[in-house]
Amino acid sequence: MDAGLPAFRARQIIHWIYERYAQSVDDITELSKKLRQELSESAYISNLELLDRQTSQDGTEKFLFELEDGETIESVLIPDEERLTLCISSQVGCAMGCVFCLTGKLGLKRNLEPHEIVDQVISANRLIKPDRITNIVLMGMGEPLANFENVVEAIGRITTLMKISPRRITLSTSGIVPKIIELGNIGLKINLAVSLNAATDTVRSAIMPVNKTYHIRTLLDACRRFPLPPTRRITFEYVMLKDINDSASDAKRLVKLLRGIPAKINLIPFNPYNGCEYDRPDDAAVLSFQEILAQANMTVIIRKSKGQDILAACGQLKARYRE
Ligand code: SAH
Ligand code: SF4
Repeated sequence: MDAGLPAFRARQIIHWIYERYAQSVDDITELSKKLRQELSESAYISNLELLDRQTSQDGTEKFLFELEDGETIESVLIPDEERLTLCISSQVGCAMGCVFCLTGKLGLKRNLEPHEIVDQVISANRLIKPDRITNIVLMGMGEPLANFENVVEAIGRITTLMKISPRRITLSTSGIVPKIIELGNIGLKINLAVSLNAATDTVRSAIMPVNKTYHIRTLLDACRRFPLPPTRRITFEYVMLKDINDSASDAKRLVKLLRGIPAKINLIPFNPYNGCEYDRPDDAAVLSFQEILAQANMTVIIRKSKGQDILAACGQLKARYRE
């Protein structure tokens, strides 16, 4: 903002917005009444309106926010030991059409603006005061790389103005290859997660339409070339769908595919929702799949689904949808 004010004023205002969570110019009591009044005539502070807040038995919380045009999005707070991770949305809905995903079923309504992405973090901080969000995952509603510029701008503000290190930010993508390459080229230094979800092109194309454009080999080539700092690894998410991608031969194929890539594998047993046509494999199937990967010296965890009782788990975010 250039309101003809000296630079220190801008720093003051930024501090009040990003660290003291001012919701209106009038909240910035460090500025004189006169200055606040003048500023209010040309500027306002955008806000997300909290419509609902639900807490799960496991401590996960889901926030439902209303945007200024009445659309709604969800963010999920996941406490885990000393970390407070916020899972944020990048779009209203999603155009990628993955068949197992509730957000995907909605289609895309619109991209989020940079401030609407950042506001999820500011609003969460305000709601959990005096605690603060320590980690961010772009794994809520939407495909972040389909809203590339706004997401990059938002990450820039989160790292510089909210001082959350890029090492504590993870972006998850369904695999838009040219955008993965671009993300690597601009050197943001955030963590990359890729939703692989299948070990053959036939299965992947059937459940994730993006695979018809960018095949597994193309996707993994981009991952191999992704500029990672020495100790970092790419996370591969693998949603386990009963009788679709959960066999021992799938696990063995996965081992071969990921050979040579610094990888961590997150197995996510499918989270069912009302009216879905998929099942979660039983625990024994998930464990034996994990065992095959572990035997091949791969780092693999089963992602505990948090917040299932409040429909806050992976792929269950829906918010409200306007006609
Ligand atoms: N669009 C991005 C980020 C949001 S989805 C992406 O697809 O990566 C976050 C994760 O949830 C993805 O790995 C996705 O495969 C997974 N997911 C979607 N629906 C799910 C469901 N019903 N159960 C479990 N995981 C699901
Ligand atoms: Fe979109 Fe990710 Fe859901 Fe696929 S899994 S529809 S990319 S949000």
